[in-house]
Amino acid sequence: SKERYPQTSRSVIEHVSSSFESTVVKKIGKMEHDRIERRKKQAESKAEKVELTKRNADNPHWVLHQMIADYCKNLQYNPLTVDDMIEDRLITVCVRKRPLNKNELIKKEVDVITVPSKNQLIVHEPKTKVDLTKYLENHLFKFDYTFNETCNNEIVYKYTAQPLIKTIFEGGFATCFAYGQTGSGKTYTMSGDLFRNSPNKGIYAMAATDIFRLVASARYKHLNLIVTCSFFEIYSRKVLDLLNRKGDLKILEDGKQQVQVVGLTEKVVSSVNEVLELIHQGNTARTSGQTSANENSSRSHAVFQIYLRPAKKFHTLHGKFSLIDLAGNERGADTLSSTKVTRMEGGEINKSLLALKECIRALGRKGAHLPFRLSKLTQVLRDSFIGSNSKTCMIAMVSPGVSSCENTLNTLRYADRVKELGGGELQQL
Ligand code: ADP
Ligand code: MG
Repeated sequence: SKERYPQTSRSVIEHVSSSFESTVVKKIGKMEHDRIERRKKQAESKAEKVELTKRNADNPHWVLHQMIADYCKNLQYNPLTVDDMIEDRLITVCVRKRPLNKNELIKKEVDVITVPSKNQLIVHEPKTKVDLTKYLENHLFKFDYTFNETCNNEIVYKYTAQPLIKTIFEGGFATCFAYGQTGSGKTYTMSGDLFRNSPNKGIYAMAATDIFRLVASARYKHLNLIVTCSFFEIYSRKVLDLLNRKGDLKILEDGKQQVQVVGLTEKVVSSVNEVLELIHQGNTARTSGQTSANENSSRSHAVFQIYLRPAKKFHTLHGKFSLIDLAGNERGADTLSSTKVTRMEGGEINKSLLALKECIRALGRKGAHLPFRLSKLTQVLRDSFIGSNSKTCMIAMVSPGVSSCENTLNTLRYADRVKELGGGELQQL
């Protein structure tokens, strides 16, 4: 059939003027071109279909992926930007979603988290009806800020720990918690990269940078403050000094109900690099248990503290910033295969996280009973919950994958209860 058009054209051309001739040739050329294009498109669409079927076969979650894409088509996106307003709050509760990692991408994990705005987050939970049809249960949550997978540590810092820095210069206590299941990004957020001049510093290092800057600033120079750091972990009711070969530390309450961690190493620091050095030393020493959920899962709370002390009255405290990388909050998942020891660790972690929630809630309701003695964690942080100038921030970390869905919902419900924002988990959409 390819030959037919040129044949016809030749017979037509013989009877027309040369200018008309060229128009016809052009027209015929165009027809030919369109036909090739059409064939190409058909082939492409066929290839697409084949590709789709292949993906379908490879990925049992393909239906889920499609349902989420359909749902999100109609959403308006207004994510957080660097220029959004920072509100001054006693308790700030935020959520950070990390990106899918390489392994999850290889496994074709479906991302079930959507962050439509600067303070909302949706979990698309897959469900199956009795007749086996699949559907989504979309849970909408509201927090002070929600960070999507494109947010870096710098922006997270800006809306979480940074606004609390001035509290410690004003003689108060600031606390920042990283909460979430193992692998959700707690250590990535708090420690970040520890090598010098890394562009991906964590909250510890960024807080230290700001603190050094303010100590030397015109505003606070007259206070003549010295900066010191301590780093310890709480592991199965034990308090271990990460800056002193994990020495076992005792907690004492004196007559004035002041809580002391006896013998805790406190190092004077004068530069960010010195701080990075200490964090590296501490992180290397951190206790890691073995669980089936994640071999390197962290079963301990790491508490990094930065103190401001007046040079002339070194034994008094001006202010303190506590930055805490909490133990993984996953539970139940590994009870079958775990040993008695891991189960006990899990129980202890649960207890301390529940106590923590109650203590933060009490901070929000002045005068409320403070159940700090329920756990070692809340006991050592007592001054963070009682002071007249205490501020707290919690960053709940979530993994985006569908296999983390249940843990993610648990994390979000916990974070939601730390501070009831009036909406709670909003109605299902
Ligand atoms: P956790 O301390 O909660 O167990 P990690 O901080 O160790 O989790 O994070 C688990 C993995 O995911 C690490 O490899 C880390 O580098 C990576 N990760 C976490 N958060 C992010 C993020 N926001 N962007 C890129 N990678 C991340
Ligand atoms: Mg960690």
